[in-house]
Amino acid sequence: MTGLKLTAVQALEKYFGYHQFRPLQEEIIDRLVAGKDTVVIMPTGGGKSLCYQIPSVIMPGLGIVISPLIALMKDQVEGLLAVGIKAAFLNSSLSGQEQMRVMEDAHSGKLDLLYLSPEKLMSPDFQGILPSLNINLFAIDEAHCISSWGHDFRPEYRQLALLKKRFPNIPVAALTATADKATRKDIGSQLGLHDEEIFLASFDRPNLSLEVRPGRKKWQQIVDYVLKRKGDSGIVYCNSRKGTESLAEKLNEHGIQAGYYHAGMTDVERNRVQEAFINDQIPVICATIAFGMGIDKSNIRWVIHHNLPKNMESFYQEIGRAGRDGAKADTLLFFSVSDIIFYERLMQEGPAEYKELQRNKLKRLEDYARAATCRRKILLSYFGEYLEENCGNCDVCKSPPATIDGTTIAQMALSAVYRTRETVGIQTLVDVLRGSRKRDVIQKGYNTIKTYGAGKAFSEDDWLVYVGQLIHQGILELAFDENYALKLTPVSQEVLFENKKVELVQPATVEERLAQQEKIEVRTAEPVFDFDDALFQQLKTVRMELSQKYSVPPYIIFHDKTLQEMAAVRPTEKAHFFYINGVGETKKDRYGAPFLEAVKAYGKENGIDEKDLFKAPEQNVFAPKKQKKSRKDTVETSVELFKSGMDLEEISAERGLVPGTIFSHLMKAYQKGEDLDIGRLIDKSSLQRIQKGMIQMGEPFSLKELFEYFEGDISYPELRLGVAILRKEVISDV
Ligand code: ADP
Ligand code: ZN
Repeated sequence: MTGLKLTAVQALEKYFGYHQFRPLQEEIIDRLVAGKDTVVIMPTGGGKSLCYQIPSVIMPGLGIVISPLIALMKDQVEGLLAVGIKAAFLNSSLSGQEQMRVMEDAHSGKLDLLYLSPEKLMSPDFQGILPSLNINLFAIDEAHCISSWGHDFRPEYRQLALLKKRFPNIPVAALTATADKATRKDIGSQLGLHDEEIFLASFDRPNLSLEVRPGRKKWQQIVDYVLKRKGDSGIVYCNSRKGTESLAEKLNEHGIQAGYYHAGMTDVERNRVQEAFINDQIPVICATIAFGMGIDKSNIRWVIHHNLPKNMESFYQEIGRAGRDGAKADTLLFFSVSDIIFYERLMQEGPAEYKELQRNKLKRLEDYARAATCRRKILLSYFGEYLEENCGNCDVCKSPPATIDGTTIAQMALSAVYRTRETVGIQTLVDVLRGSRKRDVIQKGYNTIKTYGAGKAFSEDDWLVYVGQLIHQGILELAFDENYALKLTPVSQEVLFENKKVELVQPATVEERLAQQEKIEVRTAEPVFDFDDALFQQLKTVRMELSQKYSVPPYIIFHDKTLQEMAAVRPTEKAHFFYINGVGETKKDRYGAPFLEAVKAYGKENGIDEKDLFKAPEQNVFAPKKQKKSRKDTVETSVELFKSGMDLEEISAERGLVPGTIFSHLMKAYQKGEDLDIGRLIDKSSLQRIQKGMIQMGEPFSLKELFEYFEGDISYPELRLGVAILRKEVISDV
């Protein structure tokens, strides 16, 4: 690309002090620089912001960022200014005069990024000004708000479709952390994007531990929990305003400094509490969900849910606020049936369809709470990801329940899903399996299919538990946008036709475990690199002083993780900052010196010679790779790994992308003529069968027809692959 001020990697180093992109970031940046629409789905803390900030900075012109939350805009702009990027926001919190100044700066090319609310952007005033600005991209944050399938629909987002109509040539980046499959599909079409590519990062946040406990004597448990983590920042989410106040009071009685936060307080009070939390002056906040949306504080070390959130998206977003710096953090959810009843009552209102959606979403979270299998697997399966191994960092993994061989049970269920053509929901499926005489079952003719009544031996309740587990394990999928029909997945094919073993937990065990849960405590492991905690604490003190001097929150100066790395590397001169992630040029110059002094003082105190302080980190701990990666596109990367002999699963683990994405990369390259031995992905006998099938069907045929021809015997990916190979006739000896 010509006309760029810096390359993307140069900007990453110069401004942010990072040496390597995370998975997908570079591909996304390249695409935006090339002027193409892009949907980015990454978990909170995944690194979405960089994906539009860097292109805006390196391209001529101004990036417009649309964000629904005023507080978040302020935070982002503060963070950008701290690293030397010229950014500003425009919203109702500014005076008329301040707004004028920002507009002047935008016009005169003094800004790289401008943050706006959707209302401001769509206001007639601003729409009039828009064409006169030299805009290089539109970034739409919290893009799931545009879809009514999402949990956070905002009607004003719908107007954003106008952008693409008015400015078809300016690329749009739509970003979100919380999109289920239905929402994902909806974002691009609602915004009217052109030929957009969806980048779906892994939702796995391995640094967060997961734990669920029954909701008994909660405040006592919370006091214990917080005392064990003294001084660490954390949030307790509660359902009610009153709950936040009384819990904060109890914690204070036990010597824990805690504030509360809810929508019933005045703006001034709320700001005061939020600022104190952000600035590490109050470690604990008891809050309703009103809290946290507008803050980017990276050193939140734990999140507790005093009550069940209303769906997985909210839950994941809320726990996602912990450990954004990538250092270890803990999460705990309290589960009580009374919370379910609470929501049931709330859901009485609203149209029936909406109620059904909300209820189903709540049910998935209840399943998570009652789970007797790896919780991370369940969480990820909700977002369409399948974790092969148990995570080892949740309470279930730390104390696993006994399982039974559930392969036959699973096959029964899957076969019934297949034979009802993937159109029925959970209840009907269970009815069919148990041979129910319900009218609906008979009228649809389900009593004539082979698996009707095959599962009579189990009670309805048992079946509901089993089917739930199959969904959690990614063996079945629930389609919200298709009337909650159960769908087969790539894993179901393996279970049905390749005898993949399925482990299930018996319903009785599930109940017993829930009763015992209190005894299992999860504490995350220590950081992966060694550092002296005393030095870390001293560096935190330096950070606090700088924070007061410059009136910015401590984490805007440096993340906890950056200080931990500093405490390990012990830099004594500016050049040593190269080895520490998160120290860019501006920060090195502005904040670096006092940290070097602190390290030296620590040396004196502990009798360490100054020249022995600095320790260049070992490779593969957190050291930057000095040799810069050449810029490669995402497909090429997958192709290269495949050529090096890795299989789909291995590449998927290496790149942090789901196997389906890797598969589509390989197919894309192959169809473009790349010399790839994709025959490795399929065995010869399947290929021969597919060829016979294709001859029988005769062209043209759809993949679905072929799938049906084989009665589900050959999986979709395998069929797609086989057909591609055969159509190209590159395998001559079949
Ligand atoms: P999101 O917007 O997806 O919630 P952010 O963009 O705020 O996430 O990024 C989360 C954290 O990860 C930030 O502290 C950011 O500086 C850091 N980060 C982002 N990209 C990288 C990278 N390539 N290397 C190291 N840290 C990164
Ligand atoms: Zn686990």
